[in-house]
Amino acid sequence: MTLAPLIDPFARAISYLRVSVTDRCDFRCTYCMTEHMTFLPKAELLTLEELDRLCSTFVGLGVEKLRITGGEPLVRKGIMTFFQGMARHLETGALKELTLTTNGSQLRKYAADLAAVGVKRINVSLDTLDDQKFAEITRWGRLAQVLDGIAAAQEAGLKIKINTVALKGFNEEELFTLTDWCARQGFDLTFIEVMPMGDMGEAQRVDQYWPLKDLRAQLASRYTLTDLPDRTGGPARYVRLAETGQRIGFITPLTHNFCESCNRVRLTCTGELYMCLGQEDMADLRAPLRASPDDAQLRQAIRAAIARKPKGHDFDYSRQVVKGQMTRHMSHTGG
Ligand code: SAM
Ligand code: SF4
Repeated sequence: MTLAPLIDPFARAISYLRVSVTDRCDFRCTYCMTEHMTFLPKAELLTLEELDRLCSTFVGLGVEKLRITGGEPLVRKGIMTFFQGMARHLETGALKELTLTTNGSQLRKYAADLAAVGVKRINVSLDTLDDQKFAEITRWGRLAQVLDGIAAAQEAGLKIKINTVALKGFNEEELFTLTDWCARQGFDLTFIEVMPMGDMGEAQRVDQYWPLKDLRAQLASRYTLTDLPDRTGGPARYVRLAETGQRIGFITPLTHNFCESCNRVRLTCTGELYMCLGQEDMADLRAPLRASPDDAQLRQAIRAAIARKPKGHDFDYSRQVVKGQMTRHMSHTGG
């Protein structure tokens, strides 16, 4: 049975689902979590079987790209069972890409298995190459473990993109170190502007904000930048550095209007579907999922949610105050 694809009220086709499989994490990055986070009781989480059914329903409705995230997706117990399940959609060709965003801490354990199920590329978040600073920003993380995880991913043949949150006064002086390290390793690199997620104090946010136009200008002082036409339907814009050949991305959700081409929605580990990262509106898919073993009700709930996808977000730092701030943490919706 071929089903009509998901098209929102602004004629955007929804082909990309990001799934947060857990809100838990083995790190406590300062911009993402408080030190003493309260996590959801395990009983509230969708089971891996339920996550499989939900994601499979989305694939049946035309979703072609799945990104698994969290929290830290690789700390969810039994996560490889879920990946193995999703691999069947790669085999039929319905799913074009299965990927994940990870902090890298568990890659030594899982990289080979991920490659075996058909994952080709992964995003690894890394904000600094300095041991001390890494410990400071992640609170609980160890840089050596992450670098070893990245090495394991390379050995497994996974293509790696590094995601770095641009933080004023923190990794500004590492701009070239990080860029050159990525160039040597053959990694793409994307910088992300810090976003107002979770209640971490307004002063801290505005302080940490390092506009990517400034970062870009610094890069241009050393390399020759050429804008690339590449679009992913998300907030990333890309340039090529002539000297190293590498692709550098800029994710500027606060300063760039990217919503018109948005192709994505986000599912939390409790079955809430967020139609926009920057808006509070969400749809509960857990109830229709559990209401019946038949998927008709679930599909109907998904379509009703997509029909409410807003035109865009309201983040704004332009007056040195945080507007449009979201009270939920990034680990909830998965970034
Ligand atoms: N734990 C995994 C990781 O760190 O890659 C996946 C989840 S994490 C929430 C996804 C991405 O969101 C990471 O690249 C992280 O740096 C980014 N992130 C978290 N909080 C953020 C914030 N307040 N502003 C911008 N990016 C943020
Ligand atoms: Fe964990 Fe990722 Fe958030 Fe850091 S950014 S605390 S690694 S979920």
